[in-house]
Amino acid sequence: KRIITTHLTEEDIQIETSLRPQMLDDYIGQSKAKEIIKVYIEAAKMRREALDHVLLYGPPGLGKTTLAGIIANEMGVGVKITSGPAIEKPGDMAAVLNNLQEGDILFVDEIHRLSRQVEEVMYPAMEDYVIDILIGKGPAAKSIRLDLPKFTLVGATTRLGLLSSPLRDRFGVINRLEFYTFEELQEIVLRSSKVLQVPVDVEGAAEIARRSRGTPRLANRFLKRVRDFAQVKYDGTITKEVAAYALDTLEVDPLGLDKNDRKMLFAMMDKYGGGPVGLETLAATIGEESGTIEDVYEPYLMQLGMINRTPRGRVATPHCYRHFGRVFNQAAEQ
Ligand code: ADP
Repeated sequence: KRIITTHLTEEDIQIETSLRPQMLDDYIGQSKAKEIIKVYIEAAKMRREALDHVLLYGPPGLGKTTLAGIIANEMGVGVKITSGPAIEKPGDMAAVLNNLQEGDILFVDEIHRLSRQVEEVMYPAMEDYVIDILIGKGPAAKSIRLDLPKFTLVGATTRLGLLSSPLRDRFGVINRLEFYTFEELQEIVLRSSKVLQVPVDVEGAAEIARRSRGTPRLANRFLKRVRDFAQVKYDGTITKEVAAYALDTLEVDPLGLDKNDRKMLFAMMDKYGGGPVGLETLAATIGEESGTIEDVYEPYLMQLGMINRTPRGRVATPHCYRHFGRVFNQAAEQ
């Protein structure tokens, strides 16, 4: 089983609730998003109004759900969590909206996966806090308008481009979450180790942070796995050596790359001469969905400077060749 995944694993669900920061001050990093959200929260509180609708986007595991919970806590309101694929029919969305309390936050994960019809329910709901529902069938059908409580929609998606523009235009705040720095991840690992009561030294936390691909969810997941190694193979404390040994065993390299990243980079270098290679071709070659490549592999590999996107496709950079000890000789072509 892979340790780097797009989705929550069983063990994430167990630990994530306990590791989620509750207030803005405990939310490490993302200073730009935090700053903007802090101002909006203050302003909404002063005017005693519901907060403007907020759209958060960025790769999985960067803290979108966590931030939605924090916004609710800071505003002193409730939060209801759902997702695009979970809401199949307009009536399902109408029911969710109708059950909200005044001021509540509605968090919709994977909001780009709402169907067209469900999206259309959202437009008047977001703009005027009303929904139109159709009663009866055929020529006798009547549309009635229902008032909703003033709520705040917090939508989350991996890439902004996945959202339809009418939906995107109805958000007052649009914020991108960034990969976390090494220092921020180290702080997250140290914080989580206290909550989970796992002994870890600063260098051990650093090793986990370095391999976590800028992603808190992975940092927490690795911490938990490394703890098992520390207990079984060592004396229980996570040191640099224990962390490196455990993560090597799990096939996560010192840059945080796993088997699948390597498979993709090797395919680019060996089969396609370093590129450019189209996304779909690459996906078919390595047997992965193109969406997963775009959401999970690519953003991190681009951040590392391993690959670039060009109008003609993806290319492996000289840095990528160097990392794997290969000679780069495509300079003329690229
Ligand atoms: P997303 O919704 O973007 O996929 P989550 O909000 O579920 O990500 O975050 C995954 C986990 O990472 C959370 O359970 C939390 O423990 C941790 N986490 C996320 N952001 C932060 C942060 N800024 N500070 C500390 N921990 C965080």
